[in-house]
Amino acid sequence: MIEAYCPRCRLPRSVHRPSCPATHVARLGPDRLARLALEHVDRVALRHLERWGIGREREVALDLDRGRLVWRFEEGPALRLPAQLIGAYHHADGLFRWAWSMALDTPATVVSTRLRTLSLRRRWPAFVQPSLPATHREALARTGVAMLLSRAHGVLEVPFSTGCSWYAIYSVRGQGAGRSGRPGGHL
Ligand SMILES: [Zn+2]
Repeated sequence: MIEAYCPRCRLPRSVHRPSCPATHVARLGPDRLARLALEHVDRVALRHLERWGIGREREVALDLDRGRLVWRFEEGPALRLPAQLIGAYHHADGLFRWAWSMALDTPATVVSTRLRTLSLRRRWPAFVQPSLPATHREALARTGVAMLLSRAHGVLEVPFSTGCSWYAIYSVRGQGAGRSGRPGGHL
């Protein structure tokens, strides 16, 4: 298993500190979570490329019915990982829209919906509006907050249609160990 989470601070090993002040991830605010998420994503990009070929695929698609991302390569078998749709980014307007607001009939938006519930409780305004202005990096960061809280391992921008990308999270938990990956954590 790679990308393990620290049992004390509940952050991915890539961003937990060796001294581990153990500020539990569930107590952090959205801005701090967003920064940590970006740090993690930037740090593991090369590892996910080397280990899983993510970034070298011929195509990648989000299977909403099965809740998984499927990467296909020029050679070798496809890679399938448990995934969730967190939002969509509309390039022309620079708008990020949360998956929970899209009325999609799929279990692949469960994490997005749980993030909304938690955000209502904590009064995180950017996470309870259906859509809001964002740069690509901000779309990545917001999706990354869902990644951290659900203890997933990566964020992916998936081309959906002209002018629109989906932002998804994926989990590599249990891959190669013969166990099924399941969402977990705080969402
Ligand atoms: Zn830690």
